[in-house]
Amino acid sequence: MKNIILDKANICINCKNTPCKFGCPLGNDIPKFIHYVKEKNYEKAFFILSKTTILPAICGLICPQSLQCEKMCEKILGDNHVNIGKLEAFIGKYAIEHNYKIYSPKKTHHHVLVIGSGPASLTCAAFLRRNGIKVTIYEKHDYLGGLLIHGIPDFRLSKKLVNKVINNIINLGIEISYNKELGKDFNIEDVVNQYDAIFIGIGSNISNNLNIIGEELKNVYSANELLEENMNLDVANKKVIVYGGGNTAIDIARTLKKLGVNVTIIYRKDKKHLSAFKDEYEDCVNDKIKFIFKTNVLNIIGKDKVEKLEVVKTKLEKVDGKEILQNIDNSNYFINCDYFIKAIGSHIDTNIIKKLNLNLSENNKIDIDGNGQTSNEKVFSGGDVAGIKSTVSWAARSGRNAALAIINYLENKE
Ligand SMILES: Cc1cc2nc3c(=O)[nH]c(=O)nc-3n(C[C@H](O)[C@H](O)[C@H](O)COP(=O)(O)OP(=O)(O)OC[C@H]3O[C@@H](n4cnc5c(N)ncnc54)[C@H](O)[C@@H]3O)c2cc1C
Repeated sequence: MKNIILDKANICINCKNTPCKFGCPLGNDIPKFIHYVKEKNYEKAFFILSKTTILPAICGLICPQSLQCEKMCEKILGDNHVNIGKLEAFIGKYAIEHNYKIYSPKKTHHHVLVIGSGPASLTCAAFLRRNGIKVTIYEKHDYLGGLLIHGIPDFRLSKKLVNKVINNIINLGIEISYNKELGKDFNIEDVVNQYDAIFIGIGSNISNNLNIIGEELKNVYSANELLEENMNLDVANKKVIVYGGGNTAIDIARTLKKLGVNVTIIYRKDKKHLSAFKDEYEDCVNDKIKFIFKTNVLNIIGKDKVEKLEVVKTKLEKVDGKEILQNIDNSNYFINCDYFIKAIGSHIDTNIIKKLNLNLSENNKIDIDGNGQTSNEKVFSGGDVAGIKSTVSWAARSGRNAALAIINYLENKE
């Protein structure tokens, strides 16, 4: 394994202007960590990565590198570019196996509450703790990790690995309170005076509805809840339709396909508009999942449970220079199915958001400034709930940057 890793590392030509580093949302010092990989100094390589990230073992596996760091490398080296994700994942895993520490914390008298425990919150908590701040996490579930555990499936990101990464973070000395749900068990005003600052990273994992006839029928599910609640459906020999074109649609379809289910994905636009990462689409094709492109679902039909869908063909038309999706007249038809799973995006819990007393952005996310600070100077936020770009590395970056801003805020208040 190590020889393969060295071969990959040796492809790096250590460009002076470090384009790969600029392609990384976290700004990881990629040339420097690869330099130490080449020298087989894996501990130093891990140390370099740890300056900017606490999730190398995870991001190395599930970041869309082909759109980020590796895209920049490809511009220089073409098809034979450095496989940066593989190198990062190797170092992250090696560090866990060899029990490398993320560095020991200093001590201050400050105490920060972090709400939620996805990549944004975990990263915020770790960077605060590494700077000596006492941290307590309130998490609504009885486990940590957010979508790293209840979103991205095990065949893409092993839960065992995620839990090892989480244990290393908790071992920095972070206090955890499980089954503590913001909006239900406590509100911001109940805790704001108990802590020096608060970070909210509760994600945005409530599935969007279609608001069409038949949505209330049995066997109609929402993908985000299906994954989060780990529901076991009786899908043997059943026909399942998944509706959507993003990561969630692909992940739920592949999860079901691995159970031997007949799965088809219906997507409104064509292949090139899929918002899922390109390699994920290719994985679907390899898994023999069928796609029906350029099709809208109009109605869900059945007596008690879903029996069929009324669908219509679509086309993209340019109107005033903008591409508008339109249904094609008289192209309706029916598709039989036993289950229908909606995966058409997600939003944040509106009941919670109303109780926050914080300014919201236009798309109803928590409004933050460039430092992750909200309209309440003591409250910071990041990740999906604050409308950050919906990937793990962007969520982690926002958590790290908010931690640094919180430290600055606390120091200036002294
Ligand atoms: C199916 C799927 C696949 C994905 N695949 C990828 C991928 O391959 N690569 C990639 O980079 N990104 C992927 N993403 C996106 C990525 O997972 C998210 O952008 C990222 O996890 C957001 O991090 P977060 O910390 O903001 O929120 P989350 O990960 O959603 O974490 C939110 C945390 O808050 C907790 N919480 C929620 N409400 C409350 C409350 N009221 N009180 C207390 N705690 C609460 C949750 O339990 C959770 O622990 C995927 C997303 C999905 C849904």
